[in-house]
Amino acid sequence: LFTLLGCAVETPPLEEPDVDDNHEAVLNENITVGLSMDTLIEERWHKDRDMFSEAVRGQGADIIVRAANGNDALQIAQAERMITDGVDVLVLVPHNAEAAATIVGRAQAAGIPVISYDRLVKNANIDLYISFDNKEVGRLQAKAMLEAVPSGQYVYIGGANTDNNAHLMREGVYEVLKPHIDAGKIQVVYDEWTDAWRPKEAKKNMLAALKANDHKIDAIIAANDATAGGAIEALTEAGIKKQIPIVGQDAELQGIKRLFTEEQLMTVYKSINELTEKAAEMAIKLARGEPIETNHVINNGKKDVPTIYLTPVTVTKDNIEETVIKDGFHDAEDIYSD
Ligand code: BGC
Repeated sequence: LFTLLGCAVETPPLEEPDVDDNHEAVLNENITVGLSMDTLIEERWHKDRDMFSEAVRGQGADIIVRAANGNDALQIAQAERMITDGVDVLVLVPHNAEAAATIVGRAQAAGIPVISYDRLVKNANIDLYISFDNKEVGRLQAKAMLEAVPSGQYVYIGGANTDNNAHLMREGVYEVLKPHIDAGKIQVVYDEWTDAWRPKEAKKNMLAALKANDHKIDAIIAANDATAGGAIEALTEAGIKKQIPIVGQDAELQGIKRLFTEEQLMTVYKSINELTEKAAEMAIKLARGEPIETNHVINNGKKDVPTIYLTPVTVTKDNIEETVIKDGFHDAEDIYSD
């Protein structure tokens, strides 16, 4: 690939590359990292995009970013363009765990290493998977909920069926709930995927859960804060006055605000700083053909993928300061303002 880019090409003066439209970046001799994203709906992905871009530039490399608005065909087209433009490594957040294998195949044919970022690409020859322990995310949610609601009717508002993380999170939730279900203490009275993780779909699901159970619901486990927000809207719309404990993940600003107003019981914080720093470091190493260190292995249906797992952290109203504020993930002002 280095020869493909050629040393004869004159290096343009170094300037801040435009993250949104930067096909020129590949023309210089620097390493160029391509980041192909599914979506920018949730707040976290903006942080992923910005912090990853900064970390890559901090290593002296260039970056091209594309987001596909949840559209598989668009994600494939965007990634193909990056491949033909000659990125040195592709970092991929797949919309669809299976469909994205096409992208990996194309990259591989062009000799470009691929990192599966946050979400696993299945049945594909990826070089590295870097994420948080997503099963643990589900376990943390279920444990927190069991402490607050040791018996009763539970609703599970899942993530997108097309996202492998949503499956892992759900497995983690059920692993913890199972003995309590078997003991007859907990009944899961509704469990549904949320199309593309969209809050309005989560709201529809929650309305359906309420209807199917005559409003008799004691606990809601939502796969993330955005879907928790949708579920809470449904409760308001249905005129439910009683506070039903709900959990989410991502430590979104709205999720954190709901912790101290006690509308939400807990969220799961995943340090995007840690993820982006590590991913940028690994991307540069892979682009240079250097060895990488991993701490886990995940089989994606095609191979045992070298994996880096980071640790998710429970956030409740009692540890907001020591977690998201201390880390600079949110400003205290933003959290405590109306
Ligand atoms: C991520 C979550 C995110 C969700 C929706 C998942 O794959 O792990 O952090 O909220 O996608 O974008």
